Amino acid sequence: MMTRMARMEQVILNEIECPVCYEHMSRPIILCRSGHNLCHNCKKCISKCPVCKEKFITNNLALEAITDKIKLLQSAITQPGKHRSPYDLLDENRTKLVFAEEVSRLILREIKCKFCLKYYFSPIYFCVNGHSTCKDCKMCATCLSLATSGRNFALETIVRSAEYPCQYRNFGCASILTLPQIQHEEVCEYRPVRCPLFDSTGVTCLWTGVREDFRTHVTHEHVACNVHEGTVINLNIMYTSNTVIFALSKMFVMSILIKNGAVFYRLNLEGPFDDLNKYKCKHVLLSDDNVITTFVFSPSPKWIEFSGGIFMDCVASTLILNVSIHNT
Ligand SMILES: [Zn+2]
Ligand SMILES: [Zn+2]
Ligand SMILES: [Zn+2]
Ligand SMILES: [Zn+2]
Ligand SMILES: [Zn+2]
Ligand SMILES: [Zn+2]
Repeated sequence: MMTRMARMEQVILNEIECPVCYEHMSRPIILCRSGHNLCHNCKKCISKCPVCKEKFITNNLALEAITDKIKLLQSAITQPGKHRSPYDLLDENRTKLVFAEEVSRLILREIKCKFCLKYYFSPIYFCVNGHSTCKDCKMCATCLSLATSGRNFALETIVRSAEYPCQYRNFGCASILTLPQIQHEEVCEYRPVRCPLFDSTGVTCLWTGVREDFRTHVTHEHVACNVHEGTVINLNIMYTSNTVIFALSKMFVMSILIKNGAVFYRLNLEGPFDDLNKYKCKHVLLSDDNVITTFVFSPSPKWIEFSGGIFMDCVASTLILNVSIHNT
């Protein structure tokens, strides 16, 4: 643990060294068009980037935030108690550990694209106002200006060197992740489940908790909800109902909602969005054992509406939906 933190601290200290005066930079940190940094003191007497001769265009906001943290860490260690820092009650090792975690969480917040919700770790571009920008979306999610072609090399290096404890550590996960492994958090077995069920008036349940407790929650709090094990299920579709389905080591929630006389259906998969296409569901709508229609699609958080025509010749109470779930 110590080596991990010491390494990250060293990488940050290298990256915040001004290329001209070799001092550690502090806010404001000036950024040239190509992504080199300069301290604000040297900027007073230099008009073009000493590395590439390009113009300075903005501030390196991400590096400034990381620098603030490292200054706080240093003063907490050298002068404990002086600044009433949040680290005051901790010993040095503990302070560094908390610091490493805070920096890695700060980095993750910084590099999660607010448009596509993915992490971007290399290349990291910046906008004219110094915000970090996703390479796929090419637009700044903070100020909506276009990304420049400049790359935030210092941030890229820090991002690569950092390691990230899984955010569900307090729930029991011990995984330490590098950035390419960060998707683990989406499938972490300790990740709390948010109850996807709603009551008869359509109000969504607010319960969140560990996966193991979910089944108990459903049986106690949603007495009307069916719980089903296995990949094949039959449902009468003329009633508003929720069915939790445990199948293929996943949890699906099948919902039927009758609203203003219309019938809506949804089969949702609890888990990362990317997993939706890994499953296919075959639906057969039957009336008195006669097949009315068949359709196949992947689970989706969207509601679909059964068109009225389907029900015309059927006796409603005998209308059964047979759903079978497969891996694709
Ligand atoms: Zn300098
Ligand atoms: Zn430059
Ligand atoms: Zn994006
Ligand atoms: Zn911006
Ligand atoms: Zn985890
Ligand atoms: Zn609930």
